[in-house]
Amino acid sequence: MTINALNYQKKNLSRFKKQLDYLYDNNKYYREKIIENDIDLSSIKKITDITKLPLLTKQDLFHDYPYGFYSTKRKNIARYHATSGTTGKPLIVGFTKKDLKTRNKMVLDICKRAGIKKDDVVQICVGYGMFTGAFSFHDALEQYGCTIIPTSSGNTEKQIFYMKMLHTTVLITSPSYAMHLYEVAKEMGIDVKELDLRILKVGSELLTEEMRKRLQEAYGDKVIINQDYGMTETMGPGLGSECKYCDGLHLYTKNFVYELVDPVTKMPTDKNVGELVISTLHNECLPLIRYATNDIVELDYTKCKCGSRAPRIKKVIGRCDDMIKCKGVKLFLSQVEDFILKHHFCTSNYEIILTTEKYIDKIKIEIESIYDFAKMDEKMKKKIEEQEKKLVEEFKSTFGIYAKVMLVAPNSIKRQNGKVKRIKDLRKL
Ligand SMILES: [Zn+2]
Repeated sequence: MTINALNYQKKNLSRFKKQLDYLYDNNKYYREKIIENDIDLSSIKKITDITKLPLLTKQDLFHDYPYGFYSTKRKNIARYHATSGTTGKPLIVGFTKKDLKTRNKMVLDICKRAGIKKDDVVQICVGYGMFTGAFSFHDALEQYGCTIIPTSSGNTEKQIFYMKMLHTTVLITSPSYAMHLYEVAKEMGIDVKELDLRILKVGSELLTEEMRKRLQEAYGDKVIINQDYGMTETMGPGLGSECKYCDGLHLYTKNFVYELVDPVTKMPTDKNVGELVISTLHNECLPLIRYATNDIVELDYTKCKCGSRAPRIKKVIGRCDDMIKCKGVKLFLSQVEDFILKHHFCTSNYEIILTTEKYIDKIKIEIESIYDFAKMDEKMKKKIEEQEKKLVEEFKSTFGIYAKVMLVAPNSIKRQNGKVKRIKDLRKL
């Protein structure tokens, strides 16, 4: 039997068609695309018919930048958010008042699903500003009745100070920053297990299984490590979110239709793994119909412990931006991270450096060791050499390519806002 995620979302057909008609009526660029492709919108009669419609890509959203893909007048926009734009111009997403309401409702739903309650003290330790994350949680949870501590990102010692002084029960951050907080707290002589924290809500980057294990060890069993997933184009967090059982990201079918396509051919696929394609159902400023997200995900059709039978995202395998192409091999950052963290002597701070020597790609991975290099003696030196050798051999057998692996002293890799930049690609220079 083939399984298609769309078959689980039949009840969203009429809502989908309304959004499609709205986009067609209010967006000249989209209307022309439909006419060009000679598509009769009335031929969409069942949910699987939506695959007749063309896919949208990020390039489409950049048409006539920044307003070209908006479906509302500028005076109706209540707020802008934007992507980081590290690889070019940031994508600027407008929200009408109704869009903000839709988003707040979604974010509150995912927070409740994670077990957040009105009497929680929520420290928002992700960047405020143009990013969607901080404001989404802030707006939704403050309205709900939670106490908010808007610390934003960075200034780690202050973060720990507030956590302790104000009895933070929910910390919203990224997995790597949560790990960094733990390390800094340890240096300050504070055991994070002794704090009042009960939920660590992580997002904005991949949470690999090995990283989850590390975080669980660091923060202790009483803290729930709960993950969410989203992107600026789709209003921010909420596209996928774990329930309190933390076993896969539930899809938010109140706002979106989800499908998978083959990442290469872009054709619909019945496989469990594929590129995630999203359609919005209620958006006013930036409605998206069949938006190809560039994210490769694996779906899970088994029943969740919470009782839900709807498909979940088992894991986000990687964003195309996180894909490393080296010596003709494609590696996802998540795979490399899982590999590294399987070794107890490696920390989660690592950097992958790509260079070219005489037209040949070279890959070097520097990983911060758990050992204190200041106490280096002959015995330890030998031990580290053996560990490096083991990593090189296992990397070769896992990924099929050679990588130079070096264990370096703790805190020796350069950080930006407490985070290590994972990939340094020097090949274009
Ligand atoms: Zn569940």
